[in-house]
Order: sequence, then C-alpha cells, then structure tokens
Amino acid sequence: MEEFKASDNNKVNMFVCGSTVYDDAHLGHAKTYIDFDAIARWLRHLGYALTYVQNITDVDDKIIARARESGEDPFELARRYEQRLLEDLEVIRARDSVDKFPRSHDYMESIEMQIQLLAEKGYAYVANGNVYYDVDRFKDYARLSGMKIEELKRHRIEADEEKRHTYDFALWKAAKAGEPSWTINLVYNGKREKLSGRPGWHIEDTAITYALFGKQYDIHGGAIELLFPHHSNEIAQAEAAFGVRPYVRYWLHSGVLNIRGEKMSKSLNNFITVREALKKHSAEAIRLMVLSTHYRKEIEYSEGLMHEAEKKLAYLYSSLGVFYNARESGAKKNDVHEAADAFEKEFCDAMNRDFDTPLAIGRLVAFVARLRKIAEEGDVDQEGKRYAVEKVLGLAKVIGMLGEDTYKRKVPDDALRLISEREAFRNAGNFRDADRIRLALSERYGIAVEDADYGTVWYYKSA
Ligand SMILES: [Zn+2]
Repeated sequence: MEEFKASDNNKVNMFVCGSTVYDDAHLGHAKTYIDFDAIARWLRHLGYALTYVQNITDVDDKIIARARESGEDPFELARRYEQRLLEDLEVIRARDSVDKFPRSHDYMESIEMQIQLLAEKGYAYVANGNVYYDVDRFKDYARLSGMKIEELKRHRIEADEEKRHTYDFALWKAAKAGEPSWTINLVYNGKREKLSGRPGWHIEDTAITYALFGKQYDIHGGAIELLFPHHSNEIAQAEAAFGVRPYVRYWLHSGVLNIRGEKMSKSLNNFITVREALKKHSAEAIRLMVLSTHYRKEIEYSEGLMHEAEKKLAYLYSSLGVFYNARESGAKKNDVHEAADAFEKEFCDAMNRDFDTPLAIGRLVAFVARLRKIAEEGDVDQEGKRYAVEKVLGLAKVIGMLGEDTYKRKVPDDALRLISEREAFRNAGNFRDADRIRLALSERYGIAVEDADYGTVWYYKSA
C-alpha cells in the first residue's frame, strides 16, 4: 500500500487497456471495465480532475483474421464491434466515466515519431521491413514483471529468424498482401527508409498516451495478464524514447475472471458475453457481483455467485424500502444522523484503502440492515430519514449501485408482518410454519423470500 499523490495538483490522467474489437465483450472484460469505472468514479468523488482514456484496438491480427472468415472489410468489422462494445459499457454503466475512446490507427504520426526516436537512440532495428525493439538494450526491462532475462527466454514468445533475440518484440510489422497497411518514413543507419506495414500492438498505447498526456502520466490500468509482456514493453518503449522515468507513476492491475477454474477468454471458448448475461441478470447485479471482490483479486464465476449478488441487491432495495416507508415522527432524534455519518466515514475509509469495494459494500449492507431495524422498532424522525437515505444513495452511486427507485414501493403492512413472523419461526427452528408463511407471501402478494447471513431477503417475483 502506497500513498497516492497526483503529479499536477489535482489533475490525474488514467489510461486503461481497452478492447480489440473483433467480437462481443464477455464477463471477463466486464470485470476489468467495472473495476476501473469504480476507481474512476471514486477518484472524482474525492475531487480529482480525472481524465480517463480507454483505447480501442482496431488494427490487429485477430480483426484481420475474423474479417477474412466473414468476407467483411476489417475496418467495418472493427467499427461494428466497437459500437456494440460501447453499448455494452453503457448498459453496465461503465461508459460515462471514460472521457475518450481513442482508436489506435488514428495515432500513426505519434507511432512513427516514437519508432524514429527509438531507432535514433539505438533501441530499434529494421529487419526485412519489420522494426523490432532490442530488449537487451533496455536495462530495466524486468522492473515491472520482476522476471529475469533467463526466464524471458523460456517464455512463450514467437521465435522469428530475423529477430536478434526471441524476446525482442515488433514495433512495426511489414505489410502483407491483402492486409490494411500504412507507410512510415524512418531514418535508420543514416538512410531514409519507407516502410509499409502496420504498428505492433504495444506501441499503440504509448503513442496514444504520449499524444494525450505527454511523456509521463499518473495511472495505467489493465487486466493482470497484460503485465507481461504488454506493459513491460510499454515501459521499455516510452522510457527509452522519451528519457523520462517512470513512464507511469502507478500501475493498477485487475484480477481475472475464471469460470470452472480457467480464465474466461475467447481463445478457450468458455465465455459468457455481457449480452447473454444481461438476458438473465440486471446490470446492477453484474456490477455487485464484480465489485464484491477486490479489483486485484480473481473471481471464480458461477451462476451461484450471480444469485448471491441478486439476493444482496434485493436485500438492499427491500430493506431500504422499509426504512424509506417507515412512519415518521416529528420529534427530532440524532441517532440516525450520527449512524449515517459513521457509515459515510467507514465507507470512505474502505474505498481509500486501494479501492476496497467488497469492504465498502459490506458496510453498506450493514448500515442498511441497521436502518431497517430502526424502522421495525418504531417511528423514524423525518429529517434523519431523509439524511440517511441520501447518504446511502449518494455513496452507492459512486460505485454505480442502487440507481433504481424500487425502494419507494410500499410493501403492505400485513406482508411485512408475515415476513417478520416467518423470520421468528425460522429463528426458533420451526421450519414448517416458516414455509407455510413463505407460501402465503408468494400467493397473496407475489413476494418471494430467501435467507442470507445478513438477514431475510424478499422481492416481488414479477419485478
Ligand atoms: Zn494496452
């Protein structure tokens, strides 16, 4: 844990590795984007003037391969999936926090300039129309990943006859027939060369961030599997080209989302797209599922996990509803007010500890449970009620939660009475009567009841 300091007063620049747009986003992508959305929202809540950039890779082998299969133009295919990605981000509420979605191929000048600088400084070499980065020239290559050159040699990297070392990586790939290409001018070994081709993957990010943020910026985010080689290569490019160290002041890596013990990915064909997930679950439930694990940690995804999130969400809405609809008394009391202030402090402390969303959500659930209990025990003073509801909704909003107004719906008093009767039977171990009431609630009011360690959960089945 390290104290965060913005480089320029209040200004924070953040770049997050975005998508290569050749297919629909899946829940693994959703985890990354929801994690960094919550981080962005929290930084803004703290008063930082944040600029959040997420790139779109629209020139890539995978896009070209997919376009070849379908007979579509690669740019049209990329544009179509970019549009679908932005729609998905909108639905899971992770789009508005992003200020700019730059496309890699709009930054060719910046890419050309960077390759030129690397060639001048002796970090780049030309072979057969390709340009490679000479990793041995960059002493600090393993700083971020902690790997040794010996390990890198063993790492799965495409071998290429013309490379000086297997771990060298492409800055520019020579044009191939039938593929989109651009031309850059490069002065190399005193000679001017015209190179037709397209950029390597790693240089897109440093070209975009140089153009938008300059030689150094505050936060670089992305999924953990990008740490090596992608982010290591970015550091090698930017620090060698611009001579500024460190290129990025804080690296934030999010843990992967697994399914049946394996990382959810296109290549393993074990993915659930965001669109498929949204047919069964609400966007808020997906967000709650993601944010109930710390962003750095892995999630082992299952339907059971989604069900837990749905349940917790139902609990938050219905319990807040009991409090919101509680009888009001004119007499002013301070207890609700003070509890709300204490909750705010606890929630903020959690978020300020490396964006600890699971802890913050735990405190939100506990506070809402407390509000419900207060309402069940008697009247609530009007002013305290308004204050507490505002705090709950205000802080939940910062992590993109509780955006619906279903808590306003009043549950009939008789139904509430049955719910607490059932709870009492259940606590006494009388499951027969508890089940009898469960059935009555379902038949009479369309209300479903479930149990969780934080309390009884109920929701309208139709809603
Ligand atoms: Zn990237």
